[in-house]
Amino acid sequence: MDLRLTDEQRRLRDDAAAFCRSIRPLLETDEEWRRQGMLSDGDSVEVNTALGRAGWIGMSWPAELGGRGLSRLDATLVEEVFGYHWLPLSSYLLSYKTIGAALERFAPPGLRDALLPPIARGELVFCQGFSEPGAGSDLGALTTRAVRRGDSFVVDGQKIWTSSAQLADWIYLAVRTSAEEPKHRGISVLVAPMDTPGIEVRTFPTLGGGVLCEVFLDGVEVPAANLVGELHGGWRVLMYTLDFERITAEKVGGAVWVLDGVEGWLRERGQLDRAARERVARLRGEAAAARLLSLRAADALDREAPASHLSAMAKLAGARLVQRTAAAAVELLGPEGLAEGAAAPVGGRAAGMVRASVGSTVAGGTSEIQQLVIARRGLGLR
Ligand SMILES: Cc1cc2nc3c(=O)[nH]c(=O)nc-3n(C[C@H](O)[C@H](O)[C@H](O)COP(=O)(O)OP(=O)(O)OC[C@H]3O[C@@H](n4cnc5c(N)ncnc54)[C@H](O)[C@@H]3O)c2cc1C
Repeated sequence: MDLRLTDEQRRLRDDAAAFCRSIRPLLETDEEWRRQGMLSDGDSVEVNTALGRAGWIGMSWPAELGGRGLSRLDATLVEEVFGYHWLPLSSYLLSYKTIGAALERFAPPGLRDALLPPIARGELVFCQGFSEPGAGSDLGALTTRAVRRGDSFVVDGQKIWTSSAQLADWIYLAVRTSAEEPKHRGISVLVAPMDTPGIEVRTFPTLGGGVLCEVFLDGVEVPAANLVGELHGGWRVLMYTLDFERITAEKVGGAVWVLDGVEGWLRERGQLDRAARERVARLRGEAAAARLLSLRAADALDREAPASHLSAMAKLAGARLVQRTAAAAVELLGPEGLAEGAAAPVGGRAAGMVRASVGSTVAGGTSEIQQLVIARRGLGLR
C-alpha cells in the first residue's frame, strides 16, 4: 500500500476542508453541536443535508447509486478531514460509512436502488439496532425475534444504546429468525422505516452531552423483501457492517485538531515546556499510527481482502487515542482547559471531549472485543 497521497487525493481533501469551512456558520448557531463533546458522534440534520447536497455522502458508490465512484480509502481520507473540523457525523457514519456499505453489498437490488440514492442526497438517515439489554459484546445472544407470516416478518423485542434513532428514518435491525440453529447462524438482518406501527423510541442523556435511545419493537410488520443478505445468514452481514464501523479516521482527525489547539494555546502563553512538547509529540505519533491503521483497513476493504482484524486494530487505536488526547488536553491546559465556550482553550471542547471519549472504547465493540478479534482473526489464536 503506497502511503503517499496522489495529487487527486490532496485536492479531494482540500475540497473537503473548504466545504467544512463553508458550513461553519451552520454549526455556530447549532446549540446541540456546541453542547456535544466528541463531535464526530454528534447529530445535526442540517449538516447531514448539507453533506448530501454537496456530494459528500456515498462517495464510494457508483454514480447510478448517487456516488462518485471513489475508493473507501479516499472516503476515509475525507472522513479524517471532517473529523478535524469536528462535524457532527453520526448520521453520515451510520447511514453511509457503516450500514450503507453493507446495503450496497448485501441488499437485494430493488431495495439497494431505493435506499442508497436518498442516503447519498442526505435525505434518508439510518440507525443501527444491534445491541440489546442482554446482548452487547456477545451479539450472538440477541433475542429480538422475527417470525415469518405471509409476505412479512413480524418483529418483537428491544434494542438499546441505539445512536440517532430519535431522528432516523429507517432502522437496520439484527433479529433472530431461527431458534433451532446455533446462535450465530439463526440471525438475519432486516430494514424498516421508523414510522412502521409498533416501533417506539425513548431517548436518554449520555455523558457526552447527546442522547442515546432504546427502541421497542412490538408486532412490527416488515416486508420479507426488506431482508438484507440471506435468511439466517445475517451474522456475515453484521460482521461486514462492523468492519466499516470500526474504521476511525474521523476520530483521529478530531484528536489532531485538539493537539494543534493545545500546542498553539500553550505556545502563545510561553507555556510549551519540554514535558508538554514531549506529551503532544507522543500523542501525534499515536495519531499517525491510528490514521495508518484506518487507511490500511479501508484499503483491505477496497481489495475485498479480510479486514476484520485490521478494522479492530484501527478501532482500538482510535478509541484509545481520543481518550488519551482528551485527558492530556485538560491536564496540559490546567483549570482553564475545563472552561466551555468559544473563548476558552480549544474552543471550550476539552472537557466535553473527556466526557464523550469514555464511550469511545465501548461503542462499536469494546476494546477487549477488538483485542479478541485481533487475536483470533489476525494472529490465528484460539
Ligand atoms: C456512545 C455509544 C453509542 C452506541 N451506539 C450503538 C448503536 O448505534 N447501535 C447499537 O446496536 N449499539 C450501540 N452501542 C452499544 C455498544 O455496541 C455496546 O455497548 C458494546 O458492544 C458493549 O456491549 P455492552 O454494553 O452490552 O457491554 P457488555 O457486553 O456487557 O460488556 C461489559 C464488559 O465486559 C467485557 N467483556 C464482555 N465480553 C468479554 C469477553 N469475551 N472477553 C473480555 N471482556 C469481555 C466488555 O469489554 C466490557 O468491559 C453504543 C454504545 C455507546 C457507548
